[in-house]
Amino acid sequence: MNKLQLQGIGMTSARTRDRLVNRLKEQGIEDEAVLAAIRATPRHIFVDEALAHRAYEDSALPIGFNQTISQPYIVARMTELLLAGGPLKKVLEVGTGSGFQTAVLAQLVDKLCSVERIRPLQEKAKERLQLLELRNVSCLHTDGGMGWPGMAPFDGILSAAAPEEVPEDLLAQLAVGGRMVIPVGGRNGQQLKLIQRTSESVYDTQIIESVHFVPLLSGTIR
Ligand code: SAH
Repeated sequence: MNKLQLQGIGMTSARTRDRLVNRLKEQGIEDEAVLAAIRATPRHIFVDEALAHRAYEDSALPIGFNQTISQPYIVARMTELLLAGGPLKKVLEVGTGSGFQTAVLAQLVDKLCSVERIRPLQEKAKERLQLLELRNVSCLHTDGGMGWPGMAPFDGILSAAAPEEVPEDLLAQLAVGGRMVIPVGGRNGQQLKLIQRTSESVYDTQIIESVHFVPLLSGTIR
C-alpha cells in the first residue's frame, strides 16, 4: 500500500465515495461531521485489493480470520450515536478489525484507544492508520472484554463485536457522563444498545435497532 493507491481510481474514486455518503443520508444519517469523516476515509485500503472495487458498497466484507469490515451504515450509525452527547476526549474501541471504524472515529475524537484480539489484523490496521497519518490512535493487542484499564476511564466506548452480555469491565471503565455503543446478544439475535452512565451507579440503556455483528470472543490470537 502506498500514497498512490490511497487516492483511488474508478470504483474507488471520490465520486464513488460521494455516492456512498448520499446513500447513508437517505438511510437517516444526519451528523455532517460523521458523513464528512466517512467521505474522507478511503475504505478501499481497508480491504484486500481483490475486493477494493466493492469497498464503497454499503456492505460488510471479509477481512480474513472469519472477521468482516463493518458495513458503512453501521459505522456511521454507531459513530453518530457515540457523538450525539457532545465532543469526546478519550474513546475506547473494542475490535479494531480492519481499522476502518477506527479511522473514521479518530477524525472525530481527541484520543482513540483501540484494542484487537487477533494480532495479524491489528498489525495491518496499524499500517493503514499510519498511512492516513492518524496519530491520535493507540492500539493494544488484548482481549477487549477486559477493556484497557491503563487508559480508563473513557468518555466513550464503542464495540465492534457482540458479547452475550455487556462485560462488567467495560461498564466500570465508562466515565460518569460517558456513552457506550455496543451490540449485545447471541444466536437468537442482537440489538444495538446505547448505554449512558448517568452517575456512579446508574446506567441508562436504550435499544436502538437489530444488528448482526461477529461475536466478542475471549482470549487472544498471535
Ligand atoms: N469495525 C471493524 C470491525 C471488525 S469485526 C472494521 O470495520 O473492520 C470485529 C472485530 O472485533 C474483529 O476483528 C474481532 O477479532 C474483534 N474482536 C472480537 N472479540 C474481541 C475481543 N474480546 N477483544 C478485542 N477484539 C475482539
